[in-house]
Amino acid sequence: MFEKILIANRGEIALRVIRACREMGIRSVAVHSTADADAMHVRMADESVCIGPAPSSESYLNKAAIISACEITGAQAVHPGYGFLSENAAFAQALEEHGIVFIGPRAEHIRIMGDKITAKETAKSLGIPVVPGSDCGVPDVESAHRVAVGMGFPVIIKATAGGGGRGMKVARNAEDLEVAFRTARSEAKAAFGNDEVYIEKYLQKPRHIEVQVFGDGRGGAVHLAERDCSLQRRHQKVFEEAPGPAITPKMRAEIGNICATAMRDLGYIGAGTIEFLYEDGHFYFIEMNTRLQVEHPVTEMIFGVDLVREQIRVAAGLPMSFSQDELEINGHAIEVRINAERLPNFAPCPGKVKVFHAPGGLGVRMDSALYGGYSIPPYYDSLIGKLIVHGRDRPEALARLKRALGELIVDGVDTTVPLFHALLAEPEIQSGDYTIHWLEQWLARQFG
Ligand code: ADP
Repeated sequence: MFEKILIANRGEIALRVIRACREMGIRSVAVHSTADADAMHVRMADESVCIGPAPSSESYLNKAAIISACEITGAQAVHPGYGFLSENAAFAQALEEHGIVFIGPRAEHIRIMGDKITAKETAKSLGIPVVPGSDCGVPDVESAHRVAVGMGFPVIIKATAGGGGRGMKVARNAEDLEVAFRTARSEAKAAFGNDEVYIEKYLQKPRHIEVQVFGDGRGGAVHLAERDCSLQRRHQKVFEEAPGPAITPKMRAEIGNICATAMRDLGYIGAGTIEFLYEDGHFYFIEMNTRLQVEHPVTEMIFGVDLVREQIRVAAGLPMSFSQDELEINGHAIEVRINAERLPNFAPCPGKVKVFHAPGGLGVRMDSALYGGYSIPPYYDSLIGKLIVHGRDRPEALARLKRALGELIVDGVDTTVPLFHALLAEPEIQSGDYTIHWLEQWLARQFG
């Protein structure tokens, strides 16, 4: 087992990894930008190294600085968290070349899944059902038109290199297509430096269902059921739950086994998430994330496993500590993402937190790097915490969420907490009857 792990991340996910390290008796190294010198992850780790100035391009994305930090501190492995370098194949490879273990899948698998067209092709060849679409990059408006007419409108144009909901445009009819195509391309170029786009059938009322998978890279792979992350604003998840309220045990076993078998065939190592749109009893693959997800805690809560610990174990060459037969769902879990944002426009709201009080009690977990007196820097993501609740069933989890939200105090900055109070009063949230469009439509009704 490793003696020392460096965490190439910040915020709550850096804390999450430090906690796993500490329970495993592994020393942790935090890295930070100059803007994060007072951040909780720096205080909580056993050691810390400043790797550059505030902009993440010069610090948290600075591969050379992170590798130097490993060499200076003698860290044998790097946990990338999510975001930043977590799905950067070149980083995984560079670490390997320096004799440092990347806690994640092989660079080759990151590369395959990082390109959405190759990912779709691979998924298809592994027996995973995919969304009908162009199956390759679409070079111009004329070809886009041909594909769209062949498939039928509406269609969605997506960036091959996409992520974070950017570079995606819906065309409802032939008239919309040209503008949608050009906008998606220029957004893709600006966001990813690659303007290749492809086309998919636009599903009208799907749910976003994602299957958690885990492989040991030696022919062993399991699934840990699904999460429903349909509640999204601008393709960003805000509320996630497990198990999915619309998924029956039979469907869960079927799609779960397809995913686990695919990962076994691929020789996948570590944690991964296979994302689907789900409509009328059918699953359609959209992408695979080759890392730990923000919303992984809901899966941990219903299975009682520590996914970060498992990631570290398999990266060190140990077997997973559970088999498929030993994984049994217990109850229901919900996560809400607390962002420092001002409603109704969700404008980022960095600043000084005067008081922070985390909720507690049975079945409540707060993953956050906040503390009273902390100044949230303006340079990074606005996620300041994740409130996760677990109950024996969905109604109990919802009641617990309401109770825990009432206990949470973040004084000094605006947050998305009022959004969740309002959502919990809605019958569709109580019944679990929502699609990926529900939240946007609800927000439009509330705030116009
Ligand atoms: P990203 O990598 O940018 O997050 P995804 O491919 O995962 O992009 O899609 C993000 C979200 O966009 C999905 O959760 C869904 O809400 C919407 N979406 C993507 N593809 C489709 C589609 N074919 N039909 C309808 N909605 C889609």
